[in-house]
Amino acid sequence: MVDAGFCSANDPHPDSAVKLSDHLLSLIDRNNSADPIAKQFVPDPRELKIIKGEEWDSLGEEEKGAGNVLFQKYPNRCVLYVSTHCAAFCRFCTRKRRVEDEAKDAGNDYEAAFQYLRDHPEIDDVLVTGGDPLMLAPSKLEYSLKNVKSIPSVKCIRIGTRVPISNPKQLTDEHCRVIAENGVKFVNCQFNHPQEISPQTVEAIDRFKRFGISLNNQSVLLKGVNDSVETMRALCMTLYEVGVRPYYIYQCDLIPGLSHFRTTITKGRFIHSRLRGFISGVAIPFYIVDLPAGMGKVHCTRDNFVEFAPDITNQGEGVAFDTSINPTLEYPVRKFFNYQNKSFLYDEREFCPNDIEDTARMLYNGIS
Ligand code: SF4
Repeated sequence: MVDAGFCSANDPHPDSAVKLSDHLLSLIDRNNSADPIAKQFVPDPRELKIIKGEEWDSLGEEEKGAGNVLFQKYPNRCVLYVSTHCAAFCRFCTRKRRVEDEAKDAGNDYEAAFQYLRDHPEIDDVLVTGGDPLMLAPSKLEYSLKNVKSIPSVKCIRIGTRVPISNPKQLTDEHCRVIAENGVKFVNCQFNHPQEISPQTVEAIDRFKRFGISLNNQSVLLKGVNDSVETMRALCMTLYEVGVRPYYIYQCDLIPGLSHFRTTITKGRFIHSRLRGFISGVAIPFYIVDLPAGMGKVHCTRDNFVEFAPDITNQGEGVAFDTSINPTLEYPVRKFFNYQNKSFLYDEREFCPNDIEDTARMLYNGIS
């Protein structure tokens, strides 16, 4: 990174690992200090700023499970971590706590994880993730998938990966065969900017498709990367064109050191509202907030909004959501209140301090 001129050896970097692939380096425009790919992978000293409310396991994924690799987040769903490796490290990763942490590999007990699934027939949906499952040799991936598939109560297996973006050559026919033959219903990718959809990436997408594998995209809304109507429209339409369904736009999670990436939900709703009517309906993803501490995902649609402060410049009070689960938790946010005993206040001034002015500008201008 230092040799490539992306940062100085003296920059204060967080202790999370840094990794970029040759493929991503080839896509970065080094003359553009705002390059959207560089922003996702090159460390930024602002990562050292940790604000109140941020947590390494902000989604509360690791509270209930087995074998140090399987965790049950919802009554019917769980995540299975099969790798701590990735082709490149995303600065805004939700699972930084596990990525490239060899200690997390030690003591893993996959048999205990599979037994947990057998003992909990209410779990019918397993997300196989990491790290990145496609960093595994196909035979190792097959070991996990075959075991999960053999459990009759599991009806759906999904894989989460950024390999098609970060290092598309890593994907082989053998990976695709293993995925196709072991009951995987969807592969969920994470494209965040149209510049990531390179010819090599399109080849990888085509490879999946030749094996009949369906692809969804789950982008993260990131300040300075894709927080504009124009970029999000281009991303969704290009994905649609190459055969990947734009499925989610995620609000950036409350992971430590990410406040410079985080946009306001007000802005996210604005961008999302400007997709509808301007691009094909099937190319429009859901805009989602995954609430902290296992409270679950909520759609940022009118139905989910209990309270909304449209004028964020006027000491807005943030937004509150109905959630599908009824949480009883004390989460360390500045303001938390109950609405019919199931609400969470997302305080925009607290969580996205760097995006308030930008949001006001976008709302004032009507479009960016
Ligand atoms: S590929 Fe996924 S797990 Fe790996 S660093 Fe990026 S977001 Fe995190």
